[in-house]
Amino acid sequence: MIDARSHSFADRHVGPDEGELARILDVVGVASLDELATKAVPASILDPAVGGVAAGLDALGEPLSEHEALAALTQLAGRNTTAVSMIGLGYYDTLTPPVLVRNILENPAWYTAYTPYQPEISQGRLEALLNFQTMIADLTGMEIANSSMLDEGTAAAEAMTLLRRASRSKSPRFVIDTDLFPQTRAIVVTRAEPLGIEIVEADLTQGLPDGDFFGVLAQVPGASGRVVDHAATIAAAHDRGALVAVGADLLALTLLTPPGELGADACFGTTQRFGVPMGFGGPHAGYLAVHTKHARQLPGRLVGLSVDADGDKAYRLALQTREQHIRREKATSNICTAQVLLAVVAAMYASYHGAEGLTAIAQRVHGHAERLAAGLRAAGVDVVHENFFDTVLAKVPGRAADVVERAKAWNVNLRLVDADHVGIACDEATTDAHVDSVLAAFGSTATVECTPAPFGNRTSAFLQHESFTKYRTETAMLRYLRALSDKDIALDRSMIPLGSCTMKLNATAEMEPITWPGFSKLHPFAPVADAPGMLQVISDLQDWLVAITGYDAVSLQPNAGSQGEYAGLLAIRNYHLSRGDDHRTVCLIPSSAHGTNAASAVMAGMRVVVVACRENGDVDVDDLRAKVAEHAAELSAIMITYPSTHGVYEHEVGEICAAVHDAGGQVYVDGANLNALVGLARPGRFGGDVSHLNLHKTFCIPHGGGGPGVGPIGVRSHLVPFLPGHPMAPELGGSGPVSAAPYGSASILPITWTYIAMMGARGLRHASLTAIASANYIARRLDEYFPVLYTGENGMVAHECILDLRPLTKETGVTVDDVAKRLADYGFHAPTMSFPVSGTLMVEPTESENLDEIDRFIDAMIAIRGEIDRVGAGEWPVDDNPLRGAPHTARCLVAEWNHPYSREIAVYPAGLDRPKVWPSVRRIDGAHGDRNLVCSCPPIEAFTS
Ligand SMILES: *Cc1c(COP(=O)(O)O)cnc(C)c1O
Repeated sequence: MIDARSHSFADRHVGPDEGELARILDVVGVASLDELATKAVPASILDPAVGGVAAGLDALGEPLSEHEALAALTQLAGRNTTAVSMIGLGYYDTLTPPVLVRNILENPAWYTAYTPYQPEISQGRLEALLNFQTMIADLTGMEIANSSMLDEGTAAAEAMTLLRRASRSKSPRFVIDTDLFPQTRAIVVTRAEPLGIEIVEADLTQGLPDGDFFGVLAQVPGASGRVVDHAATIAAAHDRGALVAVGADLLALTLLTPPGELGADACFGTTQRFGVPMGFGGPHAGYLAVHTKHARQLPGRLVGLSVDADGDKAYRLALQTREQHIRREKATSNICTAQVLLAVVAAMYASYHGAEGLTAIAQRVHGHAERLAAGLRAAGVDVVHENFFDTVLAKVPGRAADVVERAKAWNVNLRLVDADHVGIACDEATTDAHVDSVLAAFGSTATVECTPAPFGNRTSAFLQHESFTKYRTETAMLRYLRALSDKDIALDRSMIPLGSCTMKLNATAEMEPITWPGFSKLHPFAPVADAPGMLQVISDLQDWLVAITGYDAVSLQPNAGSQGEYAGLLAIRNYHLSRGDDHRTVCLIPSSAHGTNAASAVMAGMRVVVVACRENGDVDVDDLRAKVAEHAAELSAIMITYPSTHGVYEHEVGEICAAVHDAGGQVYVDGANLNALVGLARPGRFGGDVSHLNLHKTFCIPHGGGGPGVGPIGVRSHLVPFLPGHPMAPELGGSGPVSAAPYGSASILPITWTYIAMMGARGLRHASLTAIASANYIARRLDEYFPVLYTGENGMVAHECILDLRPLTKETGVTVDDVAKRLADYGFHAPTMSFPVSGTLMVEPTESENLDEIDRFIDAMIAIRGEIDRVGAGEWPVDDNPLRGAPHTARCLVAEWNHPYSREIAVYPAGLDRPKVWPSVRRIDGAHGDRNLVCSCPPIEAFTS
């Protein structure tokens, strides 16, 4: 008889099979997963399960097979209308070179990588990101750019706060141009309010407003398409002690004098039209660039050049890497997960086309816009702005809706600006036929002959570095991408046991739909009727996440966990304000919290009060009660992480929530660790008012080397009115937006849809319990070599465990860094280092790793412990041993070898069985790079000696 379960997706997703699981449970000391559930998860929160299906999860239905799920999604994608999109407003159709689709977007070597915190095994994506930064700096005329922002709208908001930090003016006022994209405006306004920034809107072509202000936000081209030279505005603002940020379209900047050369202090925007499909709003890499003097104010991540132990050049994250963890409420922003994968695509798009190719695309786009304008004028239609790049604003008094409707009949979406105006944006995909359709919609029948003169006034060169000249053929690009990804450890080579990051399988069936045109070619502001399939995916997901979390409603708009935190805290803030409780501004945060929590609280206008943790790692409930009493009248919220960042299910979670509720506060449960809760307990039922989830952790969206992510929030009913809304999607209701698109990074939602549809209720619970079992197995087996720092009742951990290296470091001088780097020699990616406790490693195996791989990791750790002992015993000196020398490259073997350990121990410590990963550089000197900050490809002159 054929066992139906042998064909289920859940069995492919979950690593350990029945036999392996039995061995795992044996070591953990429980007879079954159900017993594990009762031993690990507090009875007060554990949901009952019948036949493996937890209470509340019946909404999920029977699991689909991979092919059934893909068939269902094919149907949903087919219900969407992918019209010719000429709506613009920061989203443009683009022609992604197929070599980039297959070898980046569809390539697990790129999309399953983690944020490059271990630079020695991340040189490939670090180089790609350095190319991205160089591309942005070159095109904007600025000196330094970070390695991606979450989107254009949030980049504008970050530019605002950056100017405030950098400005000498003490004025709370901030001037924004009336010609910003509506979503940019709305995000900036939303972001400003809790921070006490007063927004002043002004038409900058009419000069700056009266009075003091600390900064100015302008945009080229404007939402209306008009191209304005902001040089005079910038000079005038500087004269009045204010700084200026300019939002700029990257393609236009190939032709226009860049903001950096006009004196702007910051420049922001999106790189979407550089080969990244619109995807109903995202994900795309936003950008932010500044002059060097503001480098330390840049939010997000910055890749820089440094040197390794052999003095060779090597890349690593510079300056404010993990700054939220260090600076917490004083951090420049809460951005953690960004948009690395999309930044890589955009950078490679620029490499593939080069400066001439991009310029030619830009001229062609402008040529279509010119021909369109000429045709409109010929038909007697008023073209409002003379100076435009890609977007034409047509004035048709009283007829705008009619024109938009007629264009729709030709399958073209135009932008209905108001009753009298239509906006038409041309892009890389625009053809003469599209232009003719638009002209026909305006009632023009004349054929227009138009030979546009070359457009623009840019004189400076850009993208001259060989990264942008060497990879113009498909063969060259293919090999470049392969060479880069070969330098990195991603999930396609090894487990990545990063605690708090949940690096589980990103199944191919989950990934396939994201490049389907039915999802990827939708403009986020397309008519609702164009996207019924996409909206169905969204509403299914909302229903399923409601069932899984126990909340009443879910918003999918936030495009990272950090943005979910901010959105959730804003909801709490606005809830209190709506009840006249404007004095409730204190946010309690345990000392163990993820750094983004404190940074988000500050962004939501709250004051952070830290709650202590006990010796055993739990929140100190006595200190909590004291802090609640002390701040009762001003208490806004508590942010707790569950299970805690210490990897433990705290038993007092009910008491903690009650204490805060009794004092009139709200409970924010950071749901980043939901992989330990799905199918077991629901934060919306055990005391939370709001949680964010990380779909890029628990729900299979790949990390992409540091993004994309999706950070939806679930809320209880009283907070529903305060969920994020959007000016272009009035149907959402709610308050201000936190992302540029109504549904954030919509095009990757099919990944999570597919995962949940294929796992079903039973599969999800089985996955959570397997993840917990594997973490406990590792904790049990490694405890005698590296003591497990925190455990809950019954000596159990949740889905991850913290290994304490501090005693060993004290005894032997071998550091947590040494162990992390040494793991690369063994072919493993290091666990999370020094978070949440300095000098420790946090290990999270997830459910996807089978026992073989887990055992190999354990064996490597035990072998490393043996090496540490040899250092401790004086056999190897502290400063010359395989740990301190790690990682070892192939190249260091052929150099003179005068170490007290052999070459074989250096590079094949685990024997010849495990496939060898060769790190491409030795240990990197991070401090050197920070002292000599280089964050773009070295100028071409550096190569001509
Ligand atoms: C990952 C994580 C976050 C931040 O999520 P991002 O998506 O990286 O912004 C917040 N809290 C915890 C506990 C996390 O592990």
